[in-house]
Amino acid sequence: MSDDSQQKKALAGDIAGQVVIEPQTRKYERIADLFSEGKLDCSECTACGAGFYPPVDVCRTCNSSAVEPVRVEAKGNLYSYTTVAVSPTFEAPYTLGYVDLAVQFTGGLRVLGIVELTPEALACDVPVRAAVSESSPVGWSFVKGTKS
Ligand SMILES: [Zn+2]
Repeated sequence: MSDDSQQKKALAGDIAGQVVIEPQTRKYERIADLFSEGKLDCSECTACGAGFYPPVDVCRTCNSSAVEPVRVEAKGNLYSYTTVAVSPTFEAPYTLGYVDLAVQFTGGLRVLGIVELTPEALACDVPVRAAVSESSPVGWSFVKGTKS
């Protein structure tokens, strides 16, 4: 074996006892583009059915790499929320909430996001949907949705 091929083999990580991890290309689009369509790119484990957002390459539930990208409706019910009064990153006050998405993943899927609802509308279990938002510091938020 020439020095060149040994070096290439070493660079590729093909050395006894080492696991070669190839960089994976994400197949997901910009979040804001999807929210304009009312969609959210997640990943679903084909081994156990768990779903993840943000998408993952390896299942956090069963460690399987049989994880596929899946596009779901970005809507659900507000599980819980809190209003942040002081923030070093975003202009306060703003409301953060966990939303249980209406998906068929094993164990469901709870997503954290900024919630833009009037104080009167803000309550646990109200229907919400993700939408592009000019006023949200991250470019999207959960807004009032309709019962599904
Ligand atoms: Zn899994």
